[in-house]
Amino acid sequence: MNVGIVGLGLIGGSLGLDLLAQNEENYVWGISRNPETCKQAEAIAVANVASTDIEAIPDRILRQTDIVIICTPIAAILPTITNLAPKLPSNIIFTDVGSVKAAIVEPASKICQQFGQRFVGSHPMAGNTLQGILAAQRNLFQNRPCVVTPSDDIAAFEKVRSLWQLVGMNVYECSPEEHDRAVASISHLPVMISSSLIAACQREEDASILKLAQNLASSGFRDTSRVGGGNPELGRLMAEYNQSALLRSLHTYQKSLQSVIDLIENEKWEEIEAFLANTHRDRLFYVD
Ligand code: NAP
Repeated sequence: MNVGIVGLGLIGGSLGLDLLAQNEENYVWGISRNPETCKQAEAIAVANVASTDIEAIPDRILRQTDIVIICTPIAAILPTITNLAPKLPSNIIFTDVGSVKAAIVEPASKICQQFGQRFVGSHPMAGNTLQGILAAQRNLFQNRPCVVTPSDDIAAFEKVRSLWQLVGMNVYECSPEEHDRAVASISHLPVMISSSLIAACQREEDASILKLAQNLASSGFRDTSRVGGGNPELGRLMAEYNQSALLRSLHTYQKSLQSVIDLIENEKWEEIEAFLANTHRDRLFYVD
């Protein structure tokens, strides 16, 4: 496959690494803001050629491109497509990797239609708390789920699906709105809960107890605080671009938390145990 990756960070860089490592016929060109990122991308085989400027990518390569994948932060996705679409051929398929879909898919599709291009939304559900090209890693996407949003253009949808399957992902098709509601509960809500947990611990007023808690924190705290200690910009964008679905999930969570408080205040120990027995069982519906 011949692809362009725009935004050579954790996700864009990892995608380029896998595509170039797995098949000599794959070709990757890359665009990123920082010239240093582009040099590193070529040096570590994220891209065959990378530049800060699309004009530096030879026309012959652009003409052979199957898909352009926008891997910038969410806020830059639509401006990036607006800037690139007029400079790319009309047969191009655009996709993105943004963690929200409703705010992107419809406006991006409209921009692409003006130039005879197609847009299909994606969200590869893979990542970690690191950022930038040096965080790129092989096999990040292997066996992980990826959402691809429906398109009237079946060929474009299939092309985008096959890109993610090529790097080992299990593809699910759902509408942007369904995606945003589902990820609000399993991805965006955990970020807000985990960050609130860290903030609550830091509210301990006794300095010696606070220090002791920090010294005693071990594997349980590492697990529960991981996503709250991640990329602040990404968390802000989840809240900003998925506001209504996230608020819905947060209000549901607030009700769950209040029930737990009520049970503990009223010393309902058996009911607490029954509640935890249910969550012990239900967790397996999400992760093994
Ligand atoms: P990242 O590591 O910060 O990578 C984004 C890269 O984009 C940056 O390294 C930056 O490289 C480049 N960039 C920033 N603004 C740009 C612009 N205007 N034009 C071109 N390049 C630009 O972030 P990431 O974690 O890969 O996230 C990227 C996207 O993936 C986001 O939309 C996010 O929602 C989505 N996503 C993230 C995760 C995750 O867990 N991290 C998971 C799934 C999806 P320079 O050094 O060149 O500035």
